[in-house]
Amino acid sequence: MLDSLKGFGLTFAHMFRPQVTIKYPDVPHPTAPRYHGRHVLNRHPDGLEKCVGCELCAWACPADAIYVEGGDNTDEQRFSPGERYGAVYQINYARCIFCGLCIEACPTRSLTMSNEYELASDSRADLIFTKEQLLAPLLPGMEQPPHPMRLGDREADYYIAAVETPGASAGAERPQVSETQVQGGRA
Ligand code: SF4
Ligand code: SF4
Repeated sequence: MLDSLKGFGLTFAHMFRPQVTIKYPDVPHPTAPRYHGRHVLNRHPDGLEKCVGCELCAWACPADAIYVEGGDNTDEQRFSPGERYGAVYQINYARCIFCGLCIEACPTRSLTMSNEYELASDSRADLIFTKEQLLAPLLPGMEQPPHPMRLGDREADYYIAAVETPGASAGAERPQVSETQVQGGRA
């Protein structure tokens, strides 16, 4: 009898303690600021793509999760400021372990990782994200490629502009889940 009362007492005491349960997915949990989530292929301020199709990210990936095919830019069909662009770009999230080695290898800061972590799917095919899915959205003032170079005649003009106006690329800094969303549920 005494043991039963002790047991109920313990349960009763816990009823008044603050909840520690995370109510996901109804209430998304904020990540650490530098959390490694879904990848983003960033753009230059005029909308041209930063990816030059060099495949360094694919070679750096320990899980063989990235597939890249480079293509040649022409004056009529220009997708990036350099000679080459990423014609085909895929990341297989059934393989990716979110280590971040690919973004370290990228020479143009084209590839970065966002805080987005809702990637689960019951289809392997749906876990292969294409270039169209990974490309950062066009911000105001950007133009959908292909189009001529707007920031200068030389490829270097793009990288000098990036030094002078840091943060001008699109997609790298996706908004975090805010505390307000956490308290009030999904926006
Ligand atoms: S985060 Fe790691 S595992 Fe995922 S694609 Fe990049 S290098 Fe490969
Ligand atoms: S994302 Fe970066 S490393 Fe990968 S192919 Fe494009 S430019 Fe090269």
